[in-house]
Amino acid sequence: MDSLHFLADRGQELRDLIHSPENRDSVRAACTDVDVSLYHPEDGERPADGLLAVCVGCEGRLECLALALRAEDPEARHGWYGGLGPADRDRIAAVVRLDAVATPLSDKALAAIRLGQNGWRINDIAQVLGCSRRTVQRYLRSVR
Ligand code: SF4
Repeated sequence: MDSLHFLADRGQELRDLIHSPENRDSVRAACTDVDVSLYHPEDGERPADGLLAVCVGCEGRLECLALALRAEDPEARHGWYGGLGPADRDRIAAVVRLDAVATPLSDKALAAIRLGQNGWRINDIAQVLGCSRRTVQRYLRSVR
């Protein structure tokens, strides 16, 4: 449970971010130069400790976690957000009594949003995810 310590006394802040992310000034993600696909290893695997250490020092850690909790399908959590895997996010969702707050987004949409938050241009996101610019724009709008 060590990995959840950073959330101590931040439950309300997390709820606010999940429900009203637009009220938060943008913060800098520490993984800007990291291949974010590494945070989505094969099922059951865990990213390298070095990658998760990047999350521990990330200014946008809570926002990253809130994004996943807001947008992913609770029945199909995948990947690591805020340094936390699917099982941890299940526990957090239960603690903050997270009901369905939005229509779940696909893994591709979540990846696009994360890349957008990391400062990637729409063209580059479209290219790396193999979808159109229009689709990327739709993904990015879905969390504004
Ligand atoms: S917490 Fe999220 S935004 Fe921050 S480094 Fe980790 S994956 Fe990137």
